[in-house]
Formats: sequence, C-alpha cells, structure tokens
Amino acid sequence: MRDNLTSLYNRRGMDKLTNQITTDKSKQPLPLVVMMCDIDHFKSIDDQFGHLVGDQVIVNVSEQIQACVRVNDVAIRYGGEEFLILLPNTPLANAHIVAERIRNAVYNIPVHHQNMSPISISIGVSQQHKGDNLDSLIREADKALYQAKQNGRNCVVIAPCECEEIRLKHA
Ligand code: GH3
Ligand code: MG
Ligand code: MG
Repeated sequence: MRDNLTSLYNRRGMDKLTNQITTDKSKQPLPLVVMMCDIDHFKSIDDQFGHLVGDQVIVNVSEQIQACVRVNDVAIRYGGEEFLILLPNTPLANAHIVAERIRNAVYNIPVHHQNMSPISISIGVSQQHKGDNLDSLIREADKALYQAKQNGRNCVVIAPCECEEIRLKHA
C-alpha cells in the first residue's frame, strides 16, 4: 500500500482506497478534488547532483505535501516525481488554497547544495462534477498540470470549468 521511499500511498494503495472515496456520496455532499503535482525540472537535479540527492528531494517534497493536507486527504506517489492528492468533500476554493500552500511550502524547502535552485512544483487541479469518475478527474488534473508547465512552472492551474466558479465566488 505504501511507497518505500516516501511512505505515501503507492498506486496499489490508491486503487484500494478509491472505492471508499468515490462511492461514499451520502456522507460527503461536496465534490472530490484531485491534484496532480510534478516537480519542476527534476531531471536536471538528478543529472547535476545525482540520484540520491534526487531521492532526498522527492522525500522532502512528500513531507511538505503530507504536512499541508488533512488527515482524510490521500497523498499518493503516482510516478517517479509525480504526486496525486485526493481531497474528498472539498470546496474548490479551499482546494486552491491548499494547492498554493503546497507550492509555497515546496519552494521554501532549504537547499543545502551549492548552485541548487529552489525546488518547485507545478500543480493541476480538477473537481468532480456529475458523471466524472476518478479516471476522468485525473485526466483533467493532468491537462491542468500540463498548462501549469506551459505557464512557466511553479504555479497552480485549475481545470477550465472550475476557473469560472472561483471567479464568481470572488466577484
Ligand atoms: P518538468 O519540469 O517538465 O516536469 O521536467 P522534469 O525534468 O521534472 O521531467 P522529466 O519527466 O523529464 O524528468 C523526470 C525525471 O525523474 C526522470 C527520471 O530519471 C527521474 N526519476 C523518476 N523517478 C525517480 C526516483 O525515484 N528517484 C530519482 N532520483 N529520480 C527519479
Ligand atoms: Mg514527471
Ligand atoms: Mg517533473
């Protein structure tokens, strides 16, 4: 269930947990929010400082993610330097704040290696609507993450239809 390096859930753990998360609608009136996070320019950290340093960066980022989410949220090491976070029963505006908190916490991780730039991550966020299953939510979050990379990295992008919702709330 858990990834050895980070102690976050691994993909198998995620598969076991997602049934509970997505079917428990009666107790969770608000939608599920999905965040896809990816460390920026991670390959150059590996290339410049070596895999062990890269591994330590992955651990540090995982710790910040875990520290920023609630106990009921599920943080998963989805791929090498990619993290998926499931936030059940969450208003999108709150999720946006959490995503920014994570982004900021990662950027403030102290770096002890000479010439190492601050560590940053990009985050794509999507929110469940009627008819969405977890796969489609992950796809949406992934597209938003791609957009965050295009926008220059170290930023959060909310999947398109949700942007409208946030604008209305803040209008
Ligand atoms: P981008 O900002 O576009 O995300 O660029 P990137 O360099 O982070 O992206 P890319 O996918 O090219 O590089 C990911 C790298 O992560 C490549 C791979 O060697 C490295 N990697 C994957 N898993 C691990 C791991 O467990 N430990 C270490 N040290 N490196 C890993
Ligand atoms: Mg990646
Ligand atoms: Mg990356």
